[in-house]
Amino acid sequence: SEDQWEIDPEELILGQQVGSGQFGLVLEGVWRDRKVAVKMVREDCMSDEEFKEEAKIMMRLSHRKLVQLYGVCTQRSPMCLVFELMENGCLTSYLRERRGRLAQDVMLAMCLDVAEGMAYLESSNFIHRDLAARNCLVSNNDEVKVSDFGMTRFVLDDQYTSSQCSKFPVKWSAPEVIKFCKFSSKSDVWSFGVLVWEVYNEGRIPYENRSNLEVVESLNAGLRLLKPRLAPDSVHTVMEWCWKEKPDERPSFALLVHELASLSDL
Ligand code: ADP
Repeated sequence: SEDQWEIDPEELILGQQVGSGQFGLVLEGVWRDRKVAVKMVREDCMSDEEFKEEAKIMMRLSHRKLVQLYGVCTQRSPMCLVFELMENGCLTSYLRERRGRLAQDVMLAMCLDVAEGMAYLESSNFIHRDLAARNCLVSNNDEVKVSDFGMTRFVLDDQYTSSQCSKFPVKWSAPEVIKFCKFSSKSDVWSFGVLVWEVYNEGRIPYENRSNLEVVESLNAGLRLLKPRLAPDSVHTVMEWCWKEKPDERPSFALLVHELASLSDL
């Protein structure tokens, strides 16, 4: 029916808080015998009406390497978004908690998981716009899935949405995004290269101690993030390919899946 994306509040059982983000608190819960994560959306930080339209599209996106949106509960205030529960939390903290204990083939498998989810988004002509380790989540069987796709379009805080402003994710953004806000699957590929860097640096912050302006200047000078100590040359080559100045010289996610899978066979 028209309202397939609407979740009946009677069917939703709310539990403990598991996190908090841009839009408000995240609770764990149960919906129709499934463990779920419920994002409670603070009223002043999301453009509701636009989101409700988009939620219908997002619910149709379904892939085992994407965090599934089950539906939206609009009858309750605040509005809440109901997602698949990812018991091992966000990828950045997962990496940090396991520093020194992550084997290289595990790191490669994580990058391949993300590339597979992103290849599906790419083939659905859906741009993520904020791909980073903090926006990937880890399941109870240690599978990494892509989350928060497309969501930055509904953030009302303009500190976050303008590339000139403090909260804009400049360190993950392609040059054409910083300069002209030109988002594409190829700008997602640039961000993916930074995510690979984060994985092989065990959750460290890229360009630590550098301001956004300094990052932009060094990119303009043709400089790039350095090869992580734990990354083999083959993986570093893939990262650098993602950071080609010209978007059409970067690989597609379909090609990245192929490349990373061939490295994991070695
Ligand atoms: P936002 O992107 O809205 O700022 P996040 O999606 O990063 O917020 O959520 C904040 C935190 O809540 C995450 O870091 C994670 O710990 C937790 N969280 C979010 N979604 C889920 C989920 N589906 N399953 C488990 N935990 C989640």
